[in-house]
Amino acid sequence: MAYGRGHESLPPGERLFNRFTIDLGVIGHELTHGVVQYEAGLVYFQQAGALNESWADVFGSLVRQWTMNQTAADADWIIGKGLFSSNVNGVGIRSMKAPGTAYNDPVIGKDPQPGHMKDYIVTSSDNGGVHLNSGIPNHAFYVTAREMGGYAWEKAGKIWYVVLCDKMTRMSQFNDAARLTHEVAGALYGQGSLEQQAVKTGWKEVGIPVDASEVEKVDLSGCTRLVGGLVVLLLGLAGKRALTKRN
Ligand SMILES: [Zn+2]
Repeated sequence: MAYGRGHESLPPGERLFNRFTIDLGVIGHELTHGVVQYEAGLVYFQQAGALNESWADVFGSLVRQWTMNQTAADADWIIGKGLFSSNVNGVGIRSMKAPGTAYNDPVIGKDPQPGHMKDYIVTSSDNGGVHLNSGIPNHAFYVTAREMGGYAWEKAGKIWYVVLCDKMTRMSQFNDAARLTHEVAGALYGQGSLEQQAVKTGWKEVGIPVDASEVEKVDLSGCTRLVGGLVVLLLGLAGKRALTKRN
């Protein structure tokens, strides 16, 4: 967990950050990292790490929405609201509603988050972009929740929580998250339900089709072929051996 202490020791005119605990969403974010670590255990690297970050943002945001009694439509979906001092041109550190728009400032630069796979950032910094590409699954959750309507924690949050606890594993990738949330939405609310369709729309909006399991099918069929080949080879060897013995 990394709460940080902000810039309170600097003179007000030089401060860029207020105290980090100013936003309940950030506290929820950090506490969710603890849950992620003990449930899916997503490694903090590349896509798995970005999912780790995203799930922390989702529940951080839901904590704030819950305390403020906001529907998905009413919420601002800003992470780290009020973290920047008045010296910075920005509303917060991340936007789930519009990744890449949380701040744009001459000193700290522009919010670099992508909100679509076409803008996915390949980098070795930030543990392979865990705080950057998290914008993609973040936005998928936002769209899902908006599509469902009402309070985001009631259905979308429930789906995301079940997937975190029972479905994802250490190395889960964006495709897995999409497929698993779609699967869980079907199990909880019915196949083809509005909720399941909302999940599909959420991922589609960020360029990830939920039926991307085609990619996996290809992998699996390759794997099956390989296993099949090995079995044939072993049977062949065993047969040859039996023949040799008999002779
Ligand atoms: Zn984090």
